[in-house]
Amino acid sequence: MILQASGFDLAMVYFLNVDTLGHTESADGEALREEVASVDQRLGEFLQSLEDLGIREETDVVIVSDHGMTNQVKNIFERNV
Ligand SMILES: [Zn+2]
Repeated sequence: MILQASGFDLAMVYFLNVDTLGHTESADGEALREEVASVDQRLGEFLQSLEDLGIREETDVVIVSDHGMTNQVKNIFERNV
């Protein structure tokens, strides 16, 4: 169980590896696909934890992303290209 206590008003979680792998590996590669699957698994566990604590119905869960990801031919961050 991810959650072991209630009584909080706000919790925020950031899964850094999805973004990092999207930038450092292929946007459609196996490493990113595996990490997204891992995050999906953890999100499922989190939702189950809310259910187990009996607070799922009163809890708002908002999932956002800072940006999408696609493979590029050139690195736009390099100077003099
Ligand atoms: Zn990013």
